[in-house]
Amino acid sequence: MNKHLKQLIELSELDKTIDGFLPEEERINGALNALLEEQNRAKRQIEETQALIVENRAKIAKHEAHLAEQSSKLAQHVKKSGDLKTEREIKALSLEEDIAREQVTFINEEIARLQNIEEDQKARIDKLKTRIIEIESQVGEAKKQNIDALAALNEKRAVIVAQKEKLAAEIPQKIFGFYARIRRWAGDRTVVPVKKQACYGCFMKISDKVYSEVIASQEIVTCPSCGCILYVKEDEAVEDKKAA
Ligand SMILES: [Zn+2]
Repeated sequence: MNKHLKQLIELSELDKTIDGFLPEEERINGALNALLEEQNRAKRQIEETQALIVENRAKIAKHEAHLAEQSSKLAQHVKKSGDLKTEREIKALSLEEDIAREQVTFINEEIARLQNIEEDQKARIDKLKTRIIEIESQVGEAKKQNIDALAALNEKRAVIVAQKEKLAAEIPQKIFGFYARIRRWAGDRTVVPVKKQACYGCFMKISDKVYSEVIASQEIVTCPSCGCILYVKEDEAVEDKKAA
């Protein structure tokens, strides 16, 4: 087999192993990340609730101003009532008074309702603040638990990365660049085996001509359909040579 092809097969295996550490790292950090997300969510919810309280208070202030207006109206009526002469005037005033009283009752109910809402909102904020403090300590605990697992993972990864760097240094720049360009879009499918004359990158059957080139493995051959670098495992190549 072409020496550089052999190197690229090995390189792609190392790259795959290095990529495999990422989900492992995510798994280790999973619980911690979930806690941090929950903490951020709680902080956002506190801010949103505080904004709602501000809105609510503006409504209450408006109602209170309205209430003061109605109360002063009623006070004026009391003053006025002594000067009234005719029945019609008395009736009209009493009607106005009734309306004002109804308004006052309504406004008071509305203020009470809004104040209850604010109490609920404050309770919600308190609960969220308590949860944030709880999360704080859980985050510390999770970080402590992750230290060993992450250190072990990084140690393993460093070994593979060192192997990869050593190998990459042995591969001619041009061939390494060729590999790196394919890897940019093909990822872990940069170098794929051919089985039963099919590319294992795209699962398309390859032509007899390309297949014989891959079996000969004198040069680096790419799949005409997907562009991945192709190789045939030694034992399979022997089998297929026999069959051909
Ligand atoms: Zn292919």
